Amino acid sequence: MTQAFLPFALPDIGEEEINEVVNTLRSGWVTTGPKTKEFEESFARYIGGNVEAISVNSATAGLHLALEACGITHGDEVIVPTLTFTATAEIVRYLGADPVFVDCDLNTLCIDISQIESKITTKTKAIIPVHMAGLPCDMEAIIAIARKYNLRVIEDAAHTCPSKINNIYIGQHDSDAIVYSFYATKTITTGEGGMIVTKNTELAKRCKVMRLHGISRDAFDRYTSTKPAWFYEIVAPGYKYNLSDIASSLGLCQLAKADRFQVRRQQMAELYMKELADLPVILPPQVVNAETDLHSWHLFCCQLNTDKINRDDFIVAMSQKGIGTSVHFIPLHFQPYWQEYYKLKAEDFPNASKYYKNAFSLPLYTKMTHDDQLRVIKAVKEILR
Ligand SMILES: *Cc1c(COP(=O)(O)O)cnc(C)c1O
Repeated sequence: MTQAFLPFALPDIGEEEINEVVNTLRSGWVTTGPKTKEFEESFARYIGGNVEAISVNSATAGLHLALEACGITHGDEVIVPTLTFTATAEIVRYLGADPVFVDCDLNTLCIDISQIESKITTKTKAIIPVHMAGLPCDMEAIIAIARKYNLRVIEDAAHTCPSKINNIYIGQHDSDAIVYSFYATKTITTGEGGMIVTKNTELAKRCKVMRLHGISRDAFDRYTSTKPAWFYEIVAPGYKYNLSDIASSLGLCQLAKADRFQVRRQQMAELYMKELADLPVILPPQVVNAETDLHSWHLFCCQLNTDKINRDDFIVAMSQKGIGTSVHFIPLHFQPYWQEYYKLKAEDFPNASKYYKNAFSLPLYTKMTHDDQLRVIKAVKEILR
């Protein structure tokens, strides 16, 4: 009997989420309103450290708003890793600025911090580190460089709900903004959604205005404050990036499960680590100190380490065994737009280029059963032994 195909990722939506969405639908308030306010307050409390949380309809929107609020504009340069999803760099182009790509560190798959300073010019205004797969970047080192050169820091924390380093949650560091994703495949999901976290009240204010058309009060305030309901002021040509109460009701339930999800993901990662240890596979980097650091294990990123089979054939073989895998990520210097526009060369990014050649990600999500995971392990062993 052939088993059903095991997808690479699936959201973990329970009856709680379904009931909460139904309640919201029945409430008559479906766009940004009380549920969104509650989700923002809960998220800020979850991250801790007196941060403010500003919901948006995607991490891409959140990164765009944060960068805009930092005043990034035409001609500015922003340092980004090449090993990331295109959203990290595209938002720099939205503002007419130029991303400057940095290779990854093969020990972390995050930006190679030792190469950042050599990329800084008089035009550099910001750094966007990405906590790759949920492994936290060394934020103290990145913030130290930023202080030295007077740069802004916006963390692409799309993979990090939750991650921590040196006992500090990602979200609590003194960056200008930290941006989370609640896309369908991420550790917690609202279908589409994101959150900006910041301690900077001026930045928060600007993001709130720009996420809804440049209106000086959001829709919820507009209908509940003492000022006349019809009155609003446009202070800038803003965007339409607000999160709906339908999405936020999902988010509230998912956030309540985030720690449990992380524990399960960690168990699954440990089982993969143990079972695949003797195979010709470079396993994902782990946290430096398991006592003080937390890996969200959003992704389980491996590299083949054999001449017997190449990556593309390995992915086909896995798929023939009914298992979905993926690649995180195709480095941006290999993507036609970025490569051609910025004349990027593979040899300028040797680590990410080498990683990509052999990279594959195994399925790791809380909807997978123990038997599902054993099936993945068995398939990898059969192909590589
Ligand atoms: C998913 C992802 C994003 C974009 O998230 P959206 O919520 O889909 O906009 C940004 N950066 C990284 C690294 C991601 O993986």
